[in-house]
Amino acid sequence: MNQTSLSTSLPLPDNLRRSLQSSPSLRTYLDNRVTKSQTNRRRTRSQGARERLTTKEHLARLAVGLREVELADKLQRCHSRLSVLTCGRHIARIIPNFTCEFRLCPDCSRRRSRKLQSKYLPAMSAFMLHRRVTAVHLVLTQTHRKENRKQSAKRIKDSFTRLQRRGFWKEYFKGGTWSLEFTKDKNGLHHTHLHIIGFRRKFFGVELLRGEWLAATGDSHVLHLKQIQDIATGLREVVKYVSKPLDIRRFGAEDLKEFLGLKNMRMFGTFGEFRDFCKDFEPSDNDAAAVGDLESFTRDLVEGCACPQCNEPLFDLRMSGKELPKFYEQVESSPPRKVATS
Ligand SMILES: [Zn+2]
Ligand SMILES: [Zn+2]
Repeated sequence: MNQTSLSTSLPLPDNLRRSLQSSPSLRTYLDNRVTKSQTNRRRTRSQGARERLTTKEHLARLAVGLREVELADKLQRCHSRLSVLTCGRHIARIIPNFTCEFRLCPDCSRRRSRKLQSKYLPAMSAFMLHRRVTAVHLVLTQTHRKENRKQSAKRIKDSFTRLQRRGFWKEYFKGGTWSLEFTKDKNGLHHTHLHIIGFRRKFFGVELLRGEWLAATGDSHVLHLKQIQDIATGLREVVKYVSKPLDIRRFGAEDLKEFLGLKNMRMFGTFGEFRDFCKDFEPSDNDAAAVGDLESFTRDLVEGCACPQCNEPLFDLRMSGKELPKFYEQVESSPPRKVATS
């Protein structure tokens, strides 16, 4: 759907219609980030490791500049020494010496995102099965205002609360999860989005939902709705925004300062019936196996165990965090070993 048809299909105030028509940035954002994100070429692991290293060094420098001595020290120690379980061609497990747990640390947010996935994936699969619902990925946006990150987050969360109180929402949705995503544009305006995995009871036209969101926000009907085919992929997509709140490499000292002020803000949560379901849900071993819980699978690996990918014995290689990207490169360029079939 293009900009014009969207703007003419709803009874919008003139000023809003004009601003939407003249600035397609929000639509472009949604098209690029949300609809194209799944088709993007995947980075190699070595590229990923190198980017994490650069990001962390950047953050540590900013922290030093802000005289956040403790934070800088933690960031520098986090994942600085590693024990890498490898067969020489695959990396089965990486155990760091220390984790800083800082929300923006790329290594720690990866761990956190894996934890969230292994916590919620079994519950989601069970919920969908028992409640006969399908899952959608919904991205809610709001108009841009001059406000700080905290105000922007509060505004969108409040609008979402109002949406949930509406008859439409209660009729069509049975809860789900929400997560916050922050971006900032060239003019320094905050763009806050809510990424929602919603469990839908029955089909509805997206225009209906646009009207409801407009009623809840008062001035925004821009959203993106996509059916989730595979819940594991869907959850990974959404958790990504929690683990990667912004392009941190473009962060300045002011951004870090502002972020430190958000210390206790929740970035991810559950709502509605799914929230209650999670309280009582105890995953059985079957649930974990059914959804391919990789975390619990590699957690028990030690030196001498068989490599999960080729069955060769694993050995424990000690290295510094700075050496990891090179080691990934080495692993990536080694020829594949024939998979043992025993
Ligand atoms: Zn860390
Ligand atoms: Zn192997």
